[in-house]
Amino acid sequence: MAELDSPLDLLAIMAHPDDAELLCGGTLVKSASRGKRVGVIDLTAGEMGSSGSVETRAREAANAGVQLGLAIRACAELPDSNLQNDHESRLVVAALIRAFRPRVVITHWTVGRHRDHRIASELVRDACFLSALRKLDIPGEPFRPHKLVYATAFREDAEPPDFVVDITEQMDRKLDAISAYASQFDGAVQAGEVFPGGGRDLIAQIRAKTAHYGSLIRVRYGEPYRLDETMEVDELSELGVSTF
Ligand SMILES: [Zn+2]
Repeated sequence: MAELDSPLDLLAIMAHPDDAELLCGGTLVKSASRGKRVGVIDLTAGEMGSSGSVETRAREAANAGVQLGLAIRACAELPDSNLQNDHESRLVVAALIRAFRPRVVITHWTVGRHRDHRIASELVRDACFLSALRKLDIPGEPFRPHKLVYATAFREDAEPPDFVVDITEQMDRKLDAISAYASQFDGAVQAGEVFPGGGRDLIAQIRAKTAHYGSLIRVRYGEPYRLDETMEVDELSELGVSTF
């Protein structure tokens, strides 16, 4: 894989093709539309999915990436449904982090319906740390991302989000990117962590959940995140999100 000329501002590293669109697609569109360099790494090619060949899913992921406005999309080609947080896998992910040099990384919440999701959360965190170790036996200059955030959309076991990104303007583009995965979602009522909505189709269910996260910051649609660190407030008198 070719090393990038310039670092990424934002990189989502998720287990399967379509996870980034579902969990943080609006956020990626928003940053890309503001001129930030945004990328996605799919840890697996989704080869264990019940429908859609690897070739079909790769083509769908590329089309979805165009909708998101990505500067890069790469697949780490780790084993689908058998993702491991072992040394070999950490080296693969750390090498990609060195190649793309993201300032902020988004990954899965620490609990997941699919085992790959929760393992990806630990794997990505550990790889972000290791990629800065000078003596690590992988190519590229040592590099560590500034920050890691966890996308908690659709997880009922996650604590209330530490922050929500307003994606009202980006919602249609997020849904277009999800719709690019026709082999996965045509006629579907469930996708990944998105559980069926009592007769609502998948897109309606995503709209309903995303509207809930939006309401937490008093906007139409939002995507929720958790952090390990405390957020800083610089000027208290300018805080948004009304209490009343
Ligand atoms: Zn997934």
